[in-house]
Amino acid sequence: MPLYPFYCKKCDKTFEVFLRPSEANQEMTCPYCQGDDVERLSDKEQDDLTPGVCGVKEDT
Ligand SMILES: [Zn+2]
Repeated sequence: MPLYPFYCKKCDKTFEVFLRPSEANQEMTCPYCQGDDVERLSDKEQDDLTPGVCGVKEDT
């Protein structure tokens, strides 16, 4: 199962969740603050690069 990185705007934390691709677009809840102000980060190139997300770059 792919690991999807998420970012919580509320507590300014990133976290990763194992999700099926079909579940990846559903509403996520932050495991730290239980808030739903959560943004999914880009998951492209995750398979061949970075096994662990240390420095998450903002893609703006
Ligand atoms: Zn949070």
